Amino acid sequence: MASIILESIFLKRSQQKKKTSPLNFKKRLFLMTLSRRGSKKGSVDIEKITCVETVVPENNPPPERQVPKKGEDYNMEQISIIERFPYPFQVVYDEGPLYVFSPTEELRKRWIHQLKMIRYNSDLVQKYHPCFWIDGQYLCCSQTAKNAMGCQSLKVGRSHRKTKKPLPPTPEEDTMVMKPLPPEPAPSAVGEMKKVVALYNYVPMNVQDLQLQKGEEYLILEESHLPWWKARDKNGREGYIPSNYVTETSNSLEIYEWYSKNITRSQAEQLLKQEGKEGGFIVRDSTSKTGKYTVSVYAKSAVDPQGMIRHYVVCCTPQNQYYLAEKHLFNTIPELRNTLSLFLPSLLWLISRLKYPVSRHQKSAPSTAGLGYGSWEIDPKDLTFLKELGTGQFGVVKYGKWRGQYNVAIKMIREGSMSEDEFIDEAKVMMNLSHEKLVQLYGVCTKQRPIFIITEYMANGCLLNFLRETQRRFQPAELLEMCKDVCEAMEYLESKQFLHRDLAARNCLVNDQGIVKVSDFGLSRYVLDDEYTSSMGSKFPVRWSPPEVLLYSKFSSKSDVWSFGVLMWEVYSLGKMPYERFNNSETTEHVIQGLRLYRPQQASERVYAIMYSCWHEKAEERPTFTALLDSIVDITDEEP
Ligand code: ADP
Repeated sequence: MASIILESIFLKRSQQKKKTSPLNFKKRLFLMTLSRRGSKKGSVDIEKITCVETVVPENNPPPERQVPKKGEDYNMEQISIIERFPYPFQVVYDEGPLYVFSPTEELRKRWIHQLKMIRYNSDLVQKYHPCFWIDGQYLCCSQTAKNAMGCQSLKVGRSHRKTKKPLPPTPEEDTMVMKPLPPEPAPSAVGEMKKVVALYNYVPMNVQDLQLQKGEEYLILEESHLPWWKARDKNGREGYIPSNYVTETSNSLEIYEWYSKNITRSQAEQLLKQEGKEGGFIVRDSTSKTGKYTVSVYAKSAVDPQGMIRHYVVCCTPQNQYYLAEKHLFNTIPELRNTLSLFLPSLLWLISRLKYPVSRHQKSAPSTAGLGYGSWEIDPKDLTFLKELGTGQFGVVKYGKWRGQYNVAIKMIREGSMSEDEFIDEAKVMMNLSHEKLVQLYGVCTKQRPIFIITEYMANGCLLNFLRETQRRFQPAELLEMCKDVCEAMEYLESKQFLHRDLAARNCLVNDQGIVKVSDFGLSRYVLDDEYTSSMGSKFPVRWSPPEVLLYSKFSSKSDVWSFGVLMWEVYSLGKMPYERFNNSETTEHVIQGLRLYRPQQASERVYAIMYSCWHEKAEERPTFTALLDSIVDITDEEP
């Protein structure tokens, strides 16, 4: 708190980094802080600022940037109806001028005054542009380069002296200041702050965390690529929050129970039928049209015992209003949802008014990357062991609770089975890998032997056994969904340039909601067992390996892609062993000769084409995970 010097809501003009990008104006909260946030997105390091000045206002600005004339736009209580930001100023730094519009002249003065702390900066300019840079040129001098030298000299004053030392006080000041005042804090950064809304409650797991209350707004003080952000609540409390528990205010549909972001048409139909309630509905993202929504509605039917389902695409006007039927325009999706829930004669074309929100599952809170901010070493005293889950390469895996409350899986690493020191170093990196389709690493217990690896608990165990359970009958859409889950996780790992190296159905796990997640990523590097690590060894995953790995141990994202193709094959053959009639060396020979796995019965030609594309002999010809995910999504809506 103490580090904030000024805090105001201003209008910010987009910086038009590309000449063609449109100019827009957004209301943003600006903070001037002592903390160094310069390298963070949306903030400017004070030390980089070379000039702060007012700007000559635009010709004919729209009402929101016009100074109101007397008596204009005021209501009975004399409060301006239009929110106005008529007083522009510029903050010039290495990326060019940032234009900010203040609601009052007084506030603009205060900010400029405070920002003139930059008088100690070493690269202050002597000249500036008094007018805006717009559509590729400065209005004052028609220069086209954004960083072109200024065309007007600055008033020479102490604020623009090119020195690091403050000037001695003038005699006037000397007499005015009887006692030396405490030094004014010099700000080090000015930045816009992001506002978010909590999607879930979060109870702090350690003292550095901040509690989250579902639906409440928070200000993000430090945003990074890491899974924990520093935030402030409305009472001024600060602390770290899991970034996957919040959503940007501007896209807050996710807080509504009737909105299911990632749900396909067939899944929506399945859920609505399962629920079987007249007026059951789901608002979801249109799979075929990005950025659009679809409302799926269920109604009982006299002819079909399964009921009727209709999908209505939500259209959007150029003015950003939404509609299903053109007569009814709505400003927001929640407004549209509310109106469609009413009995209105004009809504007879709708098969049922929207009554019951249906969702895939109780929106349960996702895993956090670690049990609290910065906690990667876990105290074993906080663990309770409840049951054995199985045994793997590294030994026994148990199910248990952390602090009696949170489900966890505990891998007890058999001594001599892992290069522990190397793994412990890497674990800190792996903790920051956080994705809803990756089994989350929560932390490690390394102060005792055997060491433990603590991960997210997955109630339905490993995918391979899940597929092999004969009593389950999976629909093709469910099999595709499993592949999609894995592909999403792999797309994330690919974006982080992190290789799995042992992707296979046995290394994926299934949670209580049937969601498949990828596990054991990168762990194979720490196995101490020649049978597993050498490509000639009996435990080497030969059947999941491409020719370049079998021949030259050349691992890449593209070798993970090959393994993903084999995993798709495992899914569609319900857990069969790939190349089942061959032993390992026959399989190697077979693959190097160019022979490939056959099409499993359950896989359509299109699905088989996707897995087959993963087995291109040339690694560079194989698709990326992003491309694979696109192909899977394309099929999702089209195949029943
Ligand atoms: P290792 O990494 O030592 O080879 P595995 O990850 O294969 O061990 O785990 C062995 C078995 O334990 C798995 O087949 C699975 O049934 C169970 N298991 C492992 N991790 C979890 C988990 N996070 N949640 C639930 N069960 C798990």
